[in-house]
Amino acid sequence: MAHMALEMSESLEERCNRILRDMEGSLTARDRVGIQDFVLLDAYTSESAVLDNLRKRFNENLIYTYIGTLLVSVNPYKELGIYTKKQMDIYMGVNFFELPPHIYALADNVYRTMLTETNNHFILISGESGAGKTEASKKILQFYAVSCPSTKLLDNVRDRLLLSNPVLEAFGNAKTLKNDNSSRFGKYMDIQFDHMGGAVGGHILSYLLEKSRVVHQNHGERSFHIFYQLVEGGEEDLLRWLGLERNCQRYSYLVQVGEGECAKVSSVNDKSDWKTVRKALSVIEFSESNIESLFAIIASVLHLGNAMFVADSQGYATLNNSPEIHWLSKLLGIPAQVIQVLSPFTVDQAVYAKDALAKAIYGRTFTWLVNELNESLANKDSSRKTVIGLLDIYGFEVFSVNSFEQFCINYCNEKLQQLFIQLTLKSEQEEYEMEGIEWESVPYFNNKIICDLVEEKFKGIISVLDEECLRPGEATDMTFLEKLEEKMGGHPHFVTHKLADQKTRKTLERGDFRLLHYAGEVTYCVVGFLDKNNDLLYRNIKEVMRQSKNAIVKHCFPSTEPDSKKRPETVATQFKSSLVGLTEILMSKEPWYVRCMKPNEGKQPGLFDDVLVRHQVKYLGLMEHLRVRRAGFAYRRRYEIFLQRYKPLCPDTWPNWKGTAAEGVECLIKHLGYKPDEYKMGRTKIFIRHPRTLFATEDAFEV
Ligand code: ATP
Ligand code: MG
Repeated sequence: MAHMALEMSESLEERCNRILRDMEGSLTARDRVGIQDFVLLDAYTSESAVLDNLRKRFNENLIYTYIGTLLVSVNPYKELGIYTKKQMDIYMGVNFFELPPHIYALADNVYRTMLTETNNHFILISGESGAGKTEASKKILQFYAVSCPSTKLLDNVRDRLLLSNPVLEAFGNAKTLKNDNSSRFGKYMDIQFDHMGGAVGGHILSYLLEKSRVVHQNHGERSFHIFYQLVEGGEEDLLRWLGLERNCQRYSYLVQVGEGECAKVSSVNDKSDWKTVRKALSVIEFSESNIESLFAIIASVLHLGNAMFVADSQGYATLNNSPEIHWLSKLLGIPAQVIQVLSPFTVDQAVYAKDALAKAIYGRTFTWLVNELNESLANKDSSRKTVIGLLDIYGFEVFSVNSFEQFCINYCNEKLQQLFIQLTLKSEQEEYEMEGIEWESVPYFNNKIICDLVEEKFKGIISVLDEECLRPGEATDMTFLEKLEEKMGGHPHFVTHKLADQKTRKTLERGDFRLLHYAGEVTYCVVGFLDKNNDLLYRNIKEVMRQSKNAIVKHCFPSTEPDSKKRPETVATQFKSSLVGLTEILMSKEPWYVRCMKPNEGKQPGLFDDVLVRHQVKYLGLMEHLRVRRAGFAYRRRYEIFLQRYKPLCPDTWPNWKGTAAEGVECLIKHLGYKPDEYKMGRTKIFIRHPRTLFATEDAFEV
């Protein structure tokens, strides 16, 4: 290898210039298609310039742009033909900045960094609902599926990884007003690789499924896809066995009076999606009996929705001898008499209990499903492996009426923004300080104040909510609101009735509170907060479920469940803990970012709404990130690692360097001809300003 250390035909400077030329393209081309990395152009530090560049590129169907190694993506709302096998081949193994920006370039770069440095990474995909996060995560997974080494065994893992997606989407995604395929759960997926780069396994963590959707959807929205897929696509004899008719309108959980009523979505093909899901379940090796139990559950939720109660002579609710009882009894494997005489409820209580049961069955089945997928994806070989984590979570959302679910989803987005700040803006600046690198700090808005407002122990909104949930019979949604107003009234991001006019110049309805999130203001209606946070299921209903002969239901309602004397954690508190867990997982890995943006609110191709995009540029922190990147150094590595990798390029450092790593690096870069303004030497690391310098160095291996 020593010959690599010898003279190179193209000097480093020449090589840098060539890469730079390639990157920027000719002037006329640049005028038309904009610049592909915001960091490169001097003029691109103002918000308007960034917006112009994004618009220019969007109009040329160039949806990707970099800020250093961060990828910005604008949803085109149309097929662009840029995700072909040919495109994948082009991006495989090519230096990041040598080709136009692409999600494949990012995926490839993460993969190769993982292999050379044998460490763990994650890709955080963020953006509001409908911005393209789930699509981006699928593209990344597909890229790995195609580009990783292939053997019979590995291909099997690959197929399972790919097919876990349609299954999870069927059960966890739904049409909302923002997105026809909106993720209603958070998903973090580790893809595990062996030291040769083969994908050997995977693991999925799911976060807070919006299960209230099972029993209620807002006007123009739908329940989870799987219900429509089964009813529309299910085979005749399957439907007969499940007691279902091929007509979504027959099921009150799918068609709510005056609401819902949108069983058909033009962009969704329930019939063909059913086939995909059905096939996926087989490939993932769900047993036929499990698949049967699974669909029996989906059908029983529909039957449950149709169950009508009437009051008997004493005013107690009874379920008449309706067909629903027959089907519930058959599908859940519970004697009809047990279902019929559950408990002395009033009709209202019975309806409430029924909905709670439907949500519980569905929610627990979803958890079971994720566990099954994990079993199927588990890496059977315990040898050393590294991972790339993909985080695709429900995006920030604002509807005309926002409830507990939006509160949780938006809180989650605050946490992810906080992580981004900690890992980039804050840590970047702290690192320069620690390494003794001269640096002019860049101010940024730190949303920790909003995270604290929501989650702080004893003081935050979740604490107040939990407190109210501890006073059954006394507390109501309105007393919760009163307490919030009393305790949070003075907080700069909480708007009370009294202050509504001054802070946001919009008054609040009775029963509402408003939060000024990092991504915009959201008015929440407190109705249902206590109930949803408690998420209680009557004990006797649980007992009945325990008797079920349906294997999945039996599994989901175990007899060892902590008994109701001990208070279970509330939903919000559980969610908060799971997000703390997620943050810990992510903090131990190297971060990469994809920032997705929506070009317009109408899901339309070719329409770039300046106001909407500008707002996203602002709250996604792109300007701050750009400023930090421009002023700083794109690349930094510990001296030991840098020397280890590049020492073959210099005869003095190859094969063994006797001095300290820092001295070795100094000798090495002198030989390579780095200019003084291209790099800085810190206490433990070398900092390199532009990626092109590094790529030129990488290229030197090939000379
Ligand atoms: P949510 O937070 O609601 O889950 P999301 O950010 O995951 O939203 P996606 O479901 O990924 O949004 O995207 C919404 C829709 O936008 C897709 O169903 C697809 O129609 C379109 N879309 C997104 N990304 C692309 C792309 N790269 N090319 C073409 N169409 C896209
Ligand atoms: Mg999504």
